Amino acid sequence: MTVTKKHYRVCNLCEAMCGLEIEHDGKQVISVKGDPEDPFSKGSLCPKGALIHKVHEDPDRLKVPLLKNDDGEWEEISWNESFDIIGGKINEIRAKHGNDAVALYLGNPTVHNLGMMLFSGEMRRSLKTKNFFSPTTMDQLPHHFIGYHVFGHALNMPIPDVDRTDYFIMFGANPIASNGSIMSGCGPVEKIKSIQGRGGKVILFDPRATETSRVVDEHHFILPGTDVFFLLGMLQLIQKNDWIQLGHLKSHVSGLEKIKNIAEEFTPDRVEALTGVPAPVLLRLTKEYVLQDRAVLYGRMGMSTQEHGGLCHWIASVLNILTNHFDREGGAMFPKPAVDVKRQKGWRLSHGRWHSRVRKLPEFDGELPVSVMAEEMLTEGKGQIRGLITFAGNPALSTPNAKRLEEALPKLDFMVSIDIFMNETTKHADIILPPPSHLEIDHYDLIFNHFAVSNNAKFSPQLFQPKEGQKYDWQIAKELTKRFSKLSKSKLSFPFRYLNPRQLLNLALLTGPYGKWSSPSRWFNGLSLNKVIASKHGINFGGMKPRVPEVLNTKDGKIQLAADVFLKGLEEVKLLLTELPEQRTINEFQLIGRRHLRSNNSWMHNVKGLVRGKNRCTAMMNTIDATTLGLEDAEIIVVQSSTGGIEIPVEITDNIMSGVISIPHGFGHGKKGTRLSVASDPNHAGVSVNDITDQNRLDKVTGNAAFSGQKVAVRKLSEVEKTP
Ligand code: SF4
Repeated sequence: MTVTKKHYRVCNLCEAMCGLEIEHDGKQVISVKGDPEDPFSKGSLCPKGALIHKVHEDPDRLKVPLLKNDDGEWEEISWNESFDIIGGKINEIRAKHGNDAVALYLGNPTVHNLGMMLFSGEMRRSLKTKNFFSPTTMDQLPHHFIGYHVFGHALNMPIPDVDRTDYFIMFGANPIASNGSIMSGCGPVEKIKSIQGRGGKVILFDPRATETSRVVDEHHFILPGTDVFFLLGMLQLIQKNDWIQLGHLKSHVSGLEKIKNIAEEFTPDRVEALTGVPAPVLLRLTKEYVLQDRAVLYGRMGMSTQEHGGLCHWIASVLNILTNHFDREGGAMFPKPAVDVKRQKGWRLSHGRWHSRVRKLPEFDGELPVSVMAEEMLTEGKGQIRGLITFAGNPALSTPNAKRLEEALPKLDFMVSIDIFMNETTKHADIILPPPSHLEIDHYDLIFNHFAVSNNAKFSPQLFQPKEGQKYDWQIAKELTKRFSKLSKSKLSFPFRYLNPRQLLNLALLTGPYGKWSSPSRWFNGLSLNKVIASKHGINFGGMKPRVPEVLNTKDGKIQLAADVFLKGLEEVKLLLTELPEQRTINEFQLIGRRHLRSNNSWMHNVKGLVRGKNRCTAMMNTIDATTLGLEDAEIIVVQSSTGGIEIPVEITDNIMSGVISIPHGFGHGKKGTRLSVASDPNHAGVSVNDITDQNRLDKVTGNAAFSGQKVAVRKLSEVEKTP
C-alpha cells in the first residue's frame, strides 16, 4: 500500500514566496496545493507553483556533468574531472589575460537558491574579476540605486504596505501576473479587494490595460517612458500648494532645500502634453493622495525598465516622504527580515569604483550593466572577456540585443554553465554542471524577505534525495572556488570553509534581529534554525514597523532627498525636453514588454501544463492602429528596430494605447543545439523580443537596460516580402 505524506515548503520560483503543501509517496509528487496554514501566503498559489514538480520530473533535466568534445558532441564526465578541467581552463585564461578576462553571470534563479546565495559570493571573490553580471541591471537596479543613494544601502528598498494602505497608486506594475515584485506578498487579488473593502482605492498607470487593470478602481493609460513627468507633476502641485508634511521624518531628511523648485515647470497642462494623462486626473489624484492618511506610490517593471527608471523611483520616494506616507503604516516601509543581509559582515557597497572597458559604464555594488556583456566579449584588447561562468539564467534570450551575445558565446576560449537545462545559453558551454532540482534542496529565502510586505521566516527542507553522487549548487560553487583560489592565492572565508548552508543559516538566524544571540532578553525564546524548522508552516513576526532612523546607512544618518546623481540626471532630462518631438509616422510604435502568470522569464516554458493553449508570444496592437495598417488579427507582422527585425503574429485589442506595441520576453526557443523538447515546439516557441531591443538604450542614471519605450517600425510581412 502506498503511504502518502505531506511536505511543506516555500515555492522558490518567484518572489511571492507562496507556501506549498505537497502530497507525495516518498518518491513521486501526488499533488501540490497552496498551504492554507502558511501565515504569509494563506493558501495562495499560481499555476507555476502548482506544477513545480514538473521541473523536477522533466525528462530534459540534466543530472550528470557534460563535456563538449572536439566534435561538438556531449559526453558524460565525472564531477571531479569536470571541476579539475574547469579550474585548469579558467585559471589558464586568468593567468594569460588577467582576472577580468573571465566573466561571471548569475541568473535569476540564484537569488531563489539558499546554497548559491551563500556560496556564490565566495566564487565571485576567488575570481577577482570586474566583469560580474546578473539580471539586476535589466530589471530592478533603480530600486537598489535609490536604496543606496537615498537610504544608504542597496537593500534599503521601501516596500508598499499593501496590507494596511487605503490608497495605492501603481506605475507599470502588474501584480496579478507577477504576484508582487519588490513587494513580496501572495494573493494580489485579495490584497486589492481588501483595500477596496475597507473603502480604499487602487489606481494603476500603464500603457496597457493589463490583468491588474481589471481589478483596480482606476486605470489610466500613460505614454511609455513618461511616468517621471507625471510624478514631477505631482511634486509640482505638492510644493506649489505647500502640502508638504514630513511628520516624524522632519529631523531625518537632508536636501529639502535643494529639491525646492526642481519640478516647477511640470504644470498639469505640460504633464498632460508629455504623458497623455489628462490634467484634471493629475490634479484630482494628487489631492486625494495627499489627503489620504494611509497612501502609497509604487512602481515596478514598466517603471524600472525605461530611460528614466532611476528618476522615477527617486521622485516616487520623495513624494512618499514629503506627504507623510513613508515609514508609517499604510505607506512605504522597510521590512525587518529574520536574516538581515545588511547586518552581515563583509557586505560592501559601491558605485563607480570601476567602469566597463568599452563603454565606460560604472559598476554598481560590484556589478556592471548586462548590456555591455556582449561588447566586452567581442571587442579585442586587454581585458577582453574570454572565459565565462554562468549559473542558471538564459542571457542568450534575456539580455538586450541578445543576438550579439549569441554571436559572442561560441567565440569564447572556455565557458562553463551550472544549470539543469541545455538551453539557448548553456548549449554554448564547454561543460555543463547540473545541480539538483528545487525539490531536492533545502531552501530559505535570504533576499525576498527583505522585500516582503510582512516579516516572516520559513525553512523548506529537502523533499527528495538527488541522484547519487550529484553535487549541490553550493558544493559546486565551493569546489570551483577552491580551484580558482589557487591562482588568486586566496582562501574561502572562515565560516564557508567549515559550515554547510544549514549551519550558516542557523548562525544568521541566531544573530539576526529576532535571534537568540541578538540580545540577552532573547536567549530563551529567540529564533534559531531549529525553531524555524519546527514551525513547518512558517513564523510570522507581523507587519512592517517604522525603522527610521535605525535602518539608514547614509553617511550623515539621514534620508538623502537630493543626491547629486539624481539632480544631475533630472537636469539632463529637462534639456532633452527642449528638443522638438519627432512626428510619429503610422508605422512607428513604442515597444513595451509583457509578462504572463504562467511564464517565468524563459525557463518555465518547458512545462507542458504551463504552455498549453493559445500562443502567448504575440504583438499586441490597438484596434485603430491595426485598422490603419490594414492588419487582420493573427496576421504576421515584421517588427523592425535599429538592431534587427522579428516576425510575429499581431494580436488586435483595445487593451493597449494607440502607438504602442507589446511583446512578451523569454521566448525564441527551438534553436539548434538546445534540449528543450516542450519549449521548442513551434506552436509556442515564439520569437525573442531581445532580437530587436537595443543594448545602447539605458536608464542613464542607473545603467539599467531600458527595454520599455523603444521605437520600432511595423509592417505587414506580405508588404516586406514584396519589397526587393
Ligand atoms: S506566485 Fe506562483 S511561482 Fe510565485 S511563489 Fe507563488 S506559487 Fe510560486
